[in-house]
Amino acid sequence: MKTGGFRGKILRVDLTNKTYEEETLPLEFYKDYVGGALLGAKLLYDETKPGMDPLSEDNKIIYTAGPLTGTDSPCASRLCIVTKSPQTGTITTTLSGGFFPVELKRAGYDAIVISGKAEEPTYLFIKEGKVRFGNAKKYWGLDVFDTQMYMKEDLNDQNIRISCIGPAGEKQSLMSCVINEARAAGRKGVGAVLGSKNLKAVAIRGTSDVPVADKELTKKSISTMMKYFKESPMAYPMFGKLGSSVAFEVASNLGVLPSYNWLNIEDVDWDAEMGPEVLNEMNITRNPCYKCPIACSQVRLVREGKYSGISSEGPEYESMFSLGTLLGIKSAEFTIVADRLTDELGFDNISSGATVAFAMELYEKGIITKEDTGGLELNFGNEEAALKLLRMMAHREGIGAIFADGTKVAAEKIGKGSEKFTLLVKGLELPAYDVRGLKAHGLNFATSFTGADHNKGYAFQEVFGTPYPNAVDRLAIEGKGKITKFNQDFASLYDIITFCEFPAQAALVENFQSLIAELLTGVMGFDYTEEDTWRMGEKLVNICRMYNVREGFSRKDDTLPERVKYEPIPSGLSKGAVTTQEELDFMLDEYYEARSWTVDGIPTSEKLEELGLSFGIKDLV
Ligand code: SF4
Repeated sequence: MKTGGFRGKILRVDLTNKTYEEETLPLEFYKDYVGGALLGAKLLYDETKPGMDPLSEDNKIIYTAGPLTGTDSPCASRLCIVTKSPQTGTITTTLSGGFFPVELKRAGYDAIVISGKAEEPTYLFIKEGKVRFGNAKKYWGLDVFDTQMYMKEDLNDQNIRISCIGPAGEKQSLMSCVINEARAAGRKGVGAVLGSKNLKAVAIRGTSDVPVADKELTKKSISTMMKYFKESPMAYPMFGKLGSSVAFEVASNLGVLPSYNWLNIEDVDWDAEMGPEVLNEMNITRNPCYKCPIACSQVRLVREGKYSGISSEGPEYESMFSLGTLLGIKSAEFTIVADRLTDELGFDNISSGATVAFAMELYEKGIITKEDTGGLELNFGNEEAALKLLRMMAHREGIGAIFADGTKVAAEKIGKGSEKFTLLVKGLELPAYDVRGLKAHGLNFATSFTGADHNKGYAFQEVFGTPYPNAVDRLAIEGKGKITKFNQDFASLYDIITFCEFPAQAALVENFQSLIAELLTGVMGFDYTEEDTWRMGEKLVNICRMYNVREGFSRKDDTLPERVKYEPIPSGLSKGAVTTQEELDFMLDEYYEARSWTVDGIPTSEKLEELGLSFGIKDLV
């Protein structure tokens, strides 16, 4: 049988002993676990013990790429990092685009499994089957862009690809991320796991082509996909032109764009102030991921005013919220500057922005004072103070040390009832969707296996009202259990095959999933059906749920913040909307039933057997 897509090997690196080895995985493993998030989740499940401290040397960092990565498939250059999150205590899978994942596949691997802890700051350089354990002392303390620039110079190769942490990851901030080029594998503190292992960077260079099983079928599937993109009213005209900032306009107009730490204390026309039309005046070029025709990523430059000359690849929609509206700052220029800064520091820009917003609310309420902040006037709207606090958090300096690990830890340190003003699920700050007016978004945040994560089951239907699979009433609770299962299984599939979810959604065709099955068959050589692709997504959700249940998570953790449950949206089109505990309970019951889980949210033996996950049944009793 001719196979392709996967390379058949993973690389194991032991930082403690400075050793490495290649391991060949059986064909059956690839058929069942495919790649990306599912491959990584299976390895993490098998190789880590429950109750493990995520920042101990027992934790593993698993870099994976999917079967389409490095082939001619568009939009498939996604890197997936799997580990146990120090921020949420759950398993986490986080993805970023760019060129690193292609290089990983060209180097001959489907995954790198990093274990142990280096004695001193270290980088890995992987090339032609060899791993160098380099001394990273000279890069320790540098921001992510300088690190990448100097490492390329020192390794004398501008074509290597580097994934690294910044100062925030070195200081093991629970909000730190891992960045390759300007693409962040963010959320859930993955950067701190690298920092805890003294691992500054992974550099990689590959030279071999990724084979495919059936060239003709692969070519045919790709050509159909390109036709779908071309015909879609959303792929090029919306995402291609405006990138994810298109969601800003829609959310602002629906009244579901949170501001002022979700207090929405002022009725602002955010779209007019700093929406995509304003922001995109500052576009200078695009920087698409490898072989992506959509090219959503915009590089922007501030041309005048106090920030003149500063540029960033971004901000994405989420940063326009977390570094703009959430802080009460009405400036597109500021979001470019803050986006660049959070990338330099290696901060997740949703959680770090949300933490500054939280600090601002505490300051406005007098819970922290100018004395506590060392003179920083943390009022909403104060741009200078926001930038300063971000830097102080990354370096754990002054008041920054209190806020360095996000809002949950900060509230625990500060006390005085401050936890009421956090917006968290499983310890992770909420992204840019006011779930009081978007019920499926709320249910997804409550049940996602990584905490409040919009990328794990985005309710496209509620925001864009598109007919795939059908438009829904965003304020209704009925039916949201089923639709959330659909959205989570959909998102999970794309994290497994490491194909960008934007184009998959924007194609707006019902049979996109059957096209993916055909493409996977062409590339990998296994005979996949559309049903198999849905099963893959469901399998990922279940194995991650199993991991979390083994850690003690259950229905009690599938919750929403107090502000969402008890404080209605004060103004705008969604005025009065709230998601009560009763509504959440109704949706949870429906969701667990759709998943064939128990009322406590535990996967049943029957479901696990059906998905080929029966090895985990013993862990759930
Ligand atoms: S749509 Fe954007 S994020 Fe997705 S692959 Fe293309 S350039 Fe990368």
